[in-house]
Amino acid sequence: MSDNRFKDIPFNSPIQPTQLELDTKFRFNCYPGISCFNACCKQADITLAPYDIIRLKNRLGMTSGEFLKKHTVPFELDSHGMPGVKMRTTDVDPVCLFMDEEKGCTVYDDRPSACRYYPIALMSSRRSDEYHDEQHYAHVFEDHCMGHNEDRELTVSEYRKEQGVEEFDELNRSFYQLILKKKSSGPSVGKPSPTSFQLFFIVNYDSDRFREFLNSANFRKVYELRDEEFALINKDDVERLKFGYRLLKQVLFGENTIPLVENAYAERMQARADILKARQEAEAAYSRAKDQEPFEKYIED
Ligand code: SF4
Ligand code: SF4
Repeated sequence: MSDNRFKDIPFNSPIQPTQLELDTKFRFNCYPGISCFNACCKQADITLAPYDIIRLKNRLGMTSGEFLKKHTVPFELDSHGMPGVKMRTTDVDPVCLFMDEEKGCTVYDDRPSACRYYPIALMSSRRSDEYHDEQHYAHVFEDHCMGHNEDRELTVSEYRKEQGVEEFDELNRSFYQLILKKKSSGPSVGKPSPTSFQLFFIVNYDSDRFREFLNSANFRKVYELRDEEFALINKDDVERLKFGYRLLKQVLFGENTIPLVENAYAERMQARADILKARQEAEAAYSRAKDQEPFEKYIED
């Protein structure tokens, strides 16, 4: 089961170049007992999106940090090092850690969106002259999958409903938009700083650490949040993720998505200027002291 949402389609890709529409019909069925049962989960290459992680870590009763450590591996989504995470598999073969030979998927109700979509690939794109992204679908044909030979026809739309992907798409869509926007904005936005990548990582993947960040001493001194809104994003992972997307749009692309506390920006700039001035004075004092060093022995005498 390969996940090609973030790759260009190579020449020998299992993804068929034909674009499927929501009302396009295709043949497919998958059920326990099919001859290839579990074959796809033994070749798992699953990129996780933010809502996938929330569903899985809550199902497993883990914090996001524990989940990331135990069940994921990091990779880079683009040449600038935008962080991504994939599901961890066994070391020798790429067998998903959630697969059970007898039962199949042991996290079935909370399986990631890439697993739900298979053998359809969700592709997001954005034209340079348009703000919003478009979602397309393509067919994935891999030799091990016998589901294509089954005698059942359904539309992409029916399949999406059957697999419960709509909720996942809705909650992951801003994540895909952020990635596309970064990719298509090119050099005008430039390489994001390590700090903005850290923020991208904790908002999208490490929900519990993001809550700690929101509760840090300075956050509400800068961002204007009503108490009820703050309580909600503290309590609810999904609401916190939605807020995080707004914060990333503001920090990465300068969109005014969250109001700032009046004068907070000016005060921060003043505080930074004060720090800079103090540092320059310290450096100047240090270099004066160094200049005097060669003469000190004479002064002591
Ligand atoms: S999460 Fe479930 S469906 Fe997805 S690869 Fe693992 S075992 Fe298969
Ligand atoms: S039919 Fe395809 S998706 Fe279903 S178990 Fe077989 S390989 Fe996996």
